[in-house]
Amino acid sequence: MLVGKNASQGIAIGRALVMRPQSINIETGHVSDVEREKVRFQNALNKSADEIRKLHEKVLSTLGSDKAQIFEAHLMILEDPELTDAITEKITTDKVKATKAVDDVAKGFIAMFEAMDQEYMRERALDIKDVTERILRNLLGIQVPDLSLLTMSVILVAHDITPSQMASIDLKCVLGIITEVGGKTSHTAIMARTLELPAVVGLRDATSSIHDSEYLIVDGEAGEVYPNPNADTIRIFEAKRERAIKAKQELMGLVGHPSKTQDGHEVFLEANIASAMDLDTVLRNDAQGVGLFRTEFIYMDRTTSPSEDEQFEIYRKVLERMAGKPTVIRTLDVGGDKNVSYLKIPKEDNPFLGFRAVRYCLRNPELFKTQLRALLRASIYGNLHIMYPMISSLHEVKECKRYLEEARSEVKARGLHVSETIKTGIMIEIPSAAVIADILAKHVDFFSIGTNDLIQYVCAVDRMNENVHDLYDPFHPAVLRLINQVIHEGHKAGIEVGMCGEMASNELLTEVLLGMGLTHFSMAPSGILRTRKKISNSSFSKAQKLAREVLKLGSSEEIKSFLA
Ligand code: PEP
Ligand code: MG
Repeated sequence: MLVGKNASQGIAIGRALVMRPQSINIETGHVSDVEREKVRFQNALNKSADEIRKLHEKVLSTLGSDKAQIFEAHLMILEDPELTDAITEKITTDKVKATKAVDDVAKGFIAMFEAMDQEYMRERALDIKDVTERILRNLLGIQVPDLSLLTMSVILVAHDITPSQMASIDLKCVLGIITEVGGKTSHTAIMARTLELPAVVGLRDATSSIHDSEYLIVDGEAGEVYPNPNADTIRIFEAKRERAIKAKQELMGLVGHPSKTQDGHEVFLEANIASAMDLDTVLRNDAQGVGLFRTEFIYMDRTTSPSEDEQFEIYRKVLERMAGKPTVIRTLDVGGDKNVSYLKIPKEDNPFLGFRAVRYCLRNPELFKTQLRALLRASIYGNLHIMYPMISSLHEVKECKRYLEEARSEVKARGLHVSETIKTGIMIEIPSAAVIADILAKHVDFFSIGTNDLIQYVCAVDRMNENVHDLYDPFHPAVLRLINQVIHEGHKAGIEVGMCGEMASNELLTEVLLGMGLTHFSMAPSGILRTRKKISNSSFSKAQKLAREVLKLGSSEEIKSFLA
């Protein structure tokens, strides 16, 4: 048995598809048969074109025309005679191998595009890189499984799966995932939970200890992986999977019920989403709203920022489908582990302490206001709450509000309507904001506590670093005291306080948070009914007492054993 971190519950049983990083080695030396080398290049071109066409078709039918556009652009590059003729000519005149010719010509084109004045042209360099790397892989016979083109059911095993790769996963073919890096609050893990895809992360050496096509069992709840299980083990896990399906069916009986304690205290259980496509799961699990829409995923996996119109359509769709239920849409939270290459955030030594979220938006007002205008235009289609991430000071709150007002005037100047009842709030995920919660509360309509980041900053533990993962501790008294303080200050100022970090669905802490007075719990849709069950079995007055007791304890160990 191999042990990693339990990132997303569920049992997956199937064959492994191991994605090993492959290096591209450019061949040196001269060719004697130039014609043969040219044919080799042409074959690689044809194969690349085939792959791109298939990707285009697939993405068009699953993710829509916006996302598919990128592959149209790739095909145009691949078929551009300026590029292909230059490569063929290099093979002929310099008598070099096709990989060397592709590499040299690609470097020249990339440098030329990168030096151009218009941003749009500079961004084409990335597309050229992508296309020419595909040709190189095909020349060398390197196979890279395309996650959106899988045809059989597999368990993916990789060093890392990026959030944008996650977004392209075809759920009909991927049964589960295993990665070597990442913690439970990495965005890959968060997305796996939203997709209800069993996942084990931080399993060291997974790509070398698991063989391709090996039969595996992934237990996402325990964080365990069983390579080559015997018949008895398979039977045990099949039974466990059946039990989980049955338990889920039982929970479905809570659909339509309020989230109320036995003594009548009501709270709201909402969903975290990363795209409009998650809404089926959200509604199936009876979320009472969307407590967090991570809009950065709209910006990923493409070469330019989404336009105002494109964003407007997405926000409108989400608001319409939520049909008047509160819908918290968070402005762009890029940076950290969420990289959007065309935004050109410089490589940083400490990306989680760096140029992220509102810090980036406030320095790129046009990008920020484009999003704000799209949100304001969409506001008339539902119950919009706008939320700013990574707030660390009052100044930032004021700046966000200033840009929102500018965006509002711009939208209204076009004769368009904007809802008069939009609420604006902030994430409390940086200790400096938590400490001045009393001050910030006077300037916003709601707080949402982002424990994923708050814990990493309070405990000084990088949420992605598995070497210090045991120090990343939601039960740390400092974390719990700070959360209590934020809830208390928010309520004193008469504003709503919710939580949208992963801690909101931690069953061991549900009663403690309830007792502290938390009213809005936002989580992966799969956790909602489980939490509703927990709340309906609780008493608010007992939870308040429990919270008071827990806040007196001095260590995480004491708190855990007290709660157990
Ligand atoms: C958080 O930090 O708790 C949060 C919800 O935001 P993200 O996980 O996207 O950083
Ligand atoms: Mg965060």
